[in-house]
Amino acid sequence: MNNSELLNRLLGIQKLHVVKSDFIGEEKLHLEVESNLSVASCPDCGRVSDQIHDESEAQMIRDLSIAERRCYLVYRAGRFKCEQCKKTFVERVEWKRSNVSYTERYERYVYQRVRRESVSQVAQDEGLSEEAVQAIFEYRAHLPWRAVPGKKRRRHAGTHK
Ligand SMILES: [Zn+2]
Repeated sequence: MNNSELLNRLLGIQKLHVVKSDFIGEEKLHLEVESNLSVASCPDCGRVSDQIHDESEAQMIRDLSIAERRCYLVYRAGRFKCEQCKKTFVERVEWKRSNVSYTERYERYVYQRVRRESVSQVAQDEGLSEEAVQAIFEYRAHLPWRAVPGKKRRRHAGTHK
């Protein structure tokens, strides 16, 4: 297995591959990642576009630690142009929600820790502010049941959608 294959396997996000990796000091790891997909669907009309307009600025996205090194994904989200609406939009990805700088699985990890430990303990260990930890916890605690991975889909009388 070559190094990049190893890193891709470690990363384990199927839609991404690692293009560059760097240690920042001894404790941080930066993985520069790119999407394997070059299409995205328009948030307005749903039409799939393969016209990459440009790339957004690189974002640093906190991910699960690797071998106790804090891990950050460096990612440039693609901006696409919709043929139908003639508008541009930034792709949405399932491994991270919009407007936050953590991966979905990292949020899940923080949430699980806060259920067992104090907010201040988690914040200190993870190098996050208490506000950030609290915000992640609140967000996940209020997720509708259908968005929680691993939960079986159940029908409830009176459930909308
Ligand atoms: Zn559109």
